[in-house]
Amino acid sequence: MPDEALSFENVQARLERQYLPVLVFKDGAEMNEKLRYWQRLLFLDDWIIKGELTSERLSDDTTGAPLRGKCSMVQELKAATIYLYVPQSDFDEEIVKFCHEDILVHELLHCKYNILEAGTSYEARHLDLREHVLLEEMARSLIMARYNIGFEWFSNVG
Ligand SMILES: [Zn+2]
Repeated sequence: MPDEALSFENVQARLERQYLPVLVFKDGAEMNEKLRYWQRLLFLDDWIIKGELTSERLSDDTTGAPLRGKCSMVQELKAATIYLYVPQSDFDEEIVKFCHEDILVHELLHCKYNILEAGTSYEARHLDLREHVLLEEMARSLIMARYNIGFEWFSNVG
């Protein structure tokens, strides 16, 4: 009788888990391990970046809108703390998959392509939104290329 731990199905399941983006980091150590990986790929090795998981709701400083992640940085020092919200089942019903690794890449891209602190004018909010759409597209492109998955992976619909 073959060792169950080494059965084809088990090994395949393990590999599939390994080669999919992490949905929810189990602890800060796992988050920071992924953070280092993506930090290097994004040529951010001259930055000091710390990752923190939090169960407190994160919100946009300007609009108060709820956020999945937040990048608090001092550009001149090339220092940043990235906060990722740990969902308390409140993202289960969302039509877009909640994916910590994607949010992490998005927040790291903020260190790379920083948007100047947007004001509250219509033009500033519009620019902020347009920049964020591009930034999230880039984060998804990187995740899709890394894990060889399609855009449909991000959908909870169907
Ligand atoms: Zn953002």
